[in-house]
Amino acid sequence: MMHPIPSWTEQIKAAAITGAIVFAACMPGIVSRPMGHLAALWPANALLIGLFVRFRTLNNPGGWFGAIMAYVVAYSLTNSATDLMTVKNLSTSLLLTGGNLACVITGVLLFAWLDEEHRRLKHPLSVLYLALVASCVAAFAGVLGNMTDPILSNANPLKGWAFWFVNELVNLMAVLPVMLSLPDLSGFRLNRRRAFKTDHIRIGKILPISALLMSFSLGIIIGGPGAPVFPIPALLWCALSYDIFITSVLTLLYSGWVLISMSLGYLPISIVNMNSRPMLLSIRIGVSLLALAPLTVACVMAAREELLRQLKYIAEHDQLTGLLNRRAFNERASSALGRLVDQKRPVAILMLDIDKFKDVNDTYGHAGGDRVLVAFARIASAGLRDIDMLGRIGGEEFAAILPDCGRKEAEMIAQRVRNKLANTPIDVSDSQQIPVTVSIGASFVHQAVPDIEALLLVADKALYRAKENGRNRVEIDDFTDIKQESDQVME
Ligand code: GH3
Ligand code: MG
Ligand code: MG
Repeated sequence: MMHPIPSWTEQIKAAAITGAIVFAACMPGIVSRPMGHLAALWPANALLIGLFVRFRTLNNPGGWFGAIMAYVVAYSLTNSATDLMTVKNLSTSLLLTGGNLACVITGVLLFAWLDEEHRRLKHPLSVLYLALVASCVAAFAGVLGNMTDPILSNANPLKGWAFWFVNELVNLMAVLPVMLSLPDLSGFRLNRRRAFKTDHIRIGKILPISALLMSFSLGIIIGGPGAPVFPIPALLWCALSYDIFITSVLTLLYSGWVLISMSLGYLPISIVNMNSRPMLLSIRIGVSLLALAPLTVACVMAAREELLRQLKYIAEHDQLTGLLNRRAFNERASSALGRLVDQKRPVAILMLDIDKFKDVNDTYGHAGGDRVLVAFARIASAGLRDIDMLGRIGGEEFAAILPDCGRKEAEMIAQRVRNKLANTPIDVSDSQQIPVTVSIGASFVHQAVPDIEALLLVADKALYRAKENGRNRVEIDDFTDIKQESDQVME
């Protein structure tokens, strides 16, 4: 599929975003880089891969240009502060930039191979694929690093390669999960606002993160070679409790905690000589691999939640029309009614039954009848207001609850649905259209009552009258009047 060429403004925007992010991400790495060593903190490549994979609108020539400029400027500024614009300085910067870009291109291309589901970490196996992609990129980074860094490769090419490989892997495995699982920015804002409005912070929600913080502290107090593993149970608990994005952020904190607190001496691991490069490699790679466990758990949980969501949808909706089924309609209408009772608001109930539907089936077959049901569901939904709720409660019988709706408005809405159907020929086959009509019975009450069944019954009686009086019509009854009448009869 051909993608439209992005406009100049889109490209300039992409260049500004990637440029700023890559430049900022290069800084801690370049500044903290010890002489003769590779920067332990090098999130720029992982961030850039994540940006291009997650926000595809940035993956355009402008976005790449911004990133290249950021690498070149960041390296030039820090390689040598004194001879800023010398040819040597610039050529080194270009060489290092080329190496980083080659890694980023590899990562972006490998992710393009994966399904969208895996790119967003929504499948139980997504973390495995992520680890494979990260390993490939890191292995490539090792080869390039060996070629560009004379200090390391002079010593031993294999060791040099391993050092580049592990460094890149640690950064990719820490940063990529956060970037890939980053929520949609617009949806994120909306969801958070809603969450703050309705959800109180529940104690159960802060327990896992409290446990994580406690195990961080415990690691520092007790120390020893086991300390880096202390937070794993709490991290797994977090993965069971929070979504994949939060888990990725916590996992990133965990990796950062181990690596930084060890290098600062807060995590005293007596048997490990921190100056020994193999030990450092071993710990870095161990931390990256440990991080796979909580991420996998979070992915499995996300896949499970998606499955539950689908099952709930299937359990609550009618397969043919996509409307709520009888049970779900009753449940949701009852809770809506409960709220209206509390607020002393009016409510109306509609019962809708397609006229002479049996004849449609007999003449055009069951498939023709099904088409009529689907078309009716669409027309009725469009005729109702957004706050109304429609369900299919039987074969060709439907019910709707209209909150905050008095007699006049209920009648107007019912007539709108009836009219629209009567004036819309329905396709019963690819070549045949027929007119279809509906009869509607409605009940309304000025102050909602909690009994959905009683309201439905009054609407059903009105529907019966609509059928008797010639079909394709609306009959409406005041629930209070009917109730009084029936109470009198009982007496
Ligand atoms: P009235 O105007 O009095 O409502 O007449 P009617 O023919 O619509 O009423 P009746 O209740 O006798 O017919 C309902 C028919 O709906 C009978 C049944 O075979 C058919 N039906 C029920 N469920 C489905 C379905 O899912 N698909 C199709 N095509 N027909 C269905
Ligand atoms: Mg009918
Ligand atoms: Mg019927």
